[in-house]
Amino acid sequence: MIAFRSSATLSRIEISPILALSRRASELRAAGRDVIDMTVGEPDASTVSAAQAAAHAAIDKGLTRYTALKGTDELITAIVAKTRRDLGLDFRSDEVIASNGAKQVIYNALAASLDPGDEVVLPQPCWTSYADMVRLAGGVPVPAAGIWDARRGWRLDADAVAAAVTPRTRWLLINSPSNPTGAVSTRIELGTLASVLDANPHVWVLSDDIYEHIVFDGASAAHILDVAPDLRARTLCVNGVSKAYAMTGWRLGWGVGPPELIRAMTAVQSQISSAPCSISQAAAVGALQGPHGEVTRMRSDFERRRNALAEHLRALDGVEAPSPEGAFYFFPSVKGLIGRCTPDGERLSDDVALCAHLLQVADVAVVPGSAFGAPGWLRMSFALSDAELMKAADRLTKAFSALLPTPRDDLAD
Ligand code: PLP
Repeated sequence: MIAFRSSATLSRIEISPILALSRRASELRAAGRDVIDMTVGEPDASTVSAAQAAAHAAIDKGLTRYTALKGTDELITAIVAKTRRDLGLDFRSDEVIASNGAKQVIYNALAASLDPGDEVVLPQPCWTSYADMVRLAGGVPVPAAGIWDARRGWRLDADAVAAAVTPRTRWLLINSPSNPTGAVSTRIELGTLASVLDANPHVWVLSDDIYEHIVFDGASAAHILDVAPDLRARTLCVNGVSKAYAMTGWRLGWGVGPPELIRAMTAVQSQISSAPCSISQAAAVGALQGPHGEVTRMRSDFERRRNALAEHLRALDGVEAPSPEGAFYFFPSVKGLIGRCTPDGERLSDDVALCAHLLQVADVAVVPGSAFGAPGWLRMSFALSDAELMKAADRLTKAFSALLPTPRDDLAD
């Protein structure tokens, strides 16, 4: 028998390190440990009730067959109306595709457009999956460093983006509010970025707007097409129901963009998955057309938890924790803790070692920043109940405070 051999393409990608960590936390829990999982990228609330009701109704009506490849007319109409409401832009139905989550929308776009060696610029830090999706589609991810500001957190650096663009660049991928940093790009930042795009008309924009409804302090997220409407002919807006409506398991996302791109993405989708689940599509229509009360409540829950966690993190020596402006992640710098020793004398040489230590001694799972291209930072989800979050904060405080300065002898090497 010839042993299984994975493709050269697959050997260039990893199983998401976040999923791997979350799995480790679940294993420890199954073994009886009281682990608090702060790696999660999903709201802790129930799916909004309008979506649940619409799904039940769809089952009752027998809407259980294949649908149109790009999604039902009802869903496409609901997405067009939502885009008009939130972005103030009118799109036609041939400019919309629904897929199995925003993740598949992004992959479809990359697979439909990249030739081997084509480049995609990724402002850092960014969601782990982007780079691997680019590789899987045959492209080359090109990181563009961000700017760290201890008060405001990570910011987009348009100069770094300009420096990363080459004649092979096909896409610039932006994400605001950001996973992992929680940063919400300002109109000024997006305007500066738009100037870089003006100077590089061959570069298309993929705007991942999945956290658009989770923005704090009464603000709302600016959008690149609001700031630079002329980019519409080369911009794909990606969105979905996962985060805003607590529907991660329903797997329903969409892309809105130029018709020739949507046609190409539809061709990819036709051969790998066909249309998304008919019941999920109906549920998404319910969510998009339903009242927004639960979404608003979820956002204020996240904001309260953000504020509570901020107080704890700010009090910690060696930690810089600017408050996220959106999404549900803190992304503190723990550079001040790297190199310190555990009470057992182990030197924590990087953020990965620090995360392993926190899981071991504090039963708290967090993601190392290096998974997002930012070694020395940590990502902590605050999509947990208030009680769990405070328990996690106490445990983190205890574990961080117990770390000792590196003995002088160890500093020599
Ligand atoms: N984009 C970002 C930035 C995300 O964080 C996630 C999920 O964690 C997704 C897209 C995927 O969303 P979906 O569940 O719609 O595939």
